Amino acid sequence: MAAVTEKLEGMDVWLYHGRIYIPNTYTAGAVGSQFLIALRDKKKIMGTRCPTCNRVYVPARSVCKDCFGGLDEWVEVSDKGTLLTYTVCHEPSRVQPVRPPIAYGIVQLDGADTGIVHMLGEVEPEQLRIGMRVQAVFKEKRDASILDIKYFRPLSAACAA
Ligand SMILES: [Zn+2]
Repeated sequence: MAAVTEKLEGMDVWLYHGRIYIPNTYTAGAVGSQFLIALRDKKKIMGTRCPTCNRVYVPARSVCKDCFGGLDEWVEVSDKGTLLTYTVCHEPSRVQPVRPPIAYGIVQLDGADTGIVHMLGEVEPEQLRIGMRVQAVFKEKRDASILDIKYFRPLSAACAA
């Protein structure tokens, strides 16, 4: 390292601004796998409840982030919830699941104490409002992916106004 630094002294340092596309695969783990399988097989959104804090995590996780206790009580939550916040992405990218513009939101499902990040659909970006009620729309053909939920759509036109 020192040799490289010595060679750079007195030289202009060139920066290359690029993007690196890195395909990757990782395990969803035991809890994440159960969560995804419930989406695929039952169109159910499952969370885990902390026996100490009583907090329900969705997506399900194995450890409570507050008390670090193990979470092994499964809870089915509603497919309906409240939009906590959102953003709209206009930048095309290979990592985006669909073509932009894409509205992403954090939805707190009824029965959950945390928010799930997902896409918002059947709504124009300018119609989005914090606090609007939304519902999960499942794909017809599911493969145990978070994208088995196609997106969350507004529950009614009145909510989108
Ligand atoms: Zn806890």
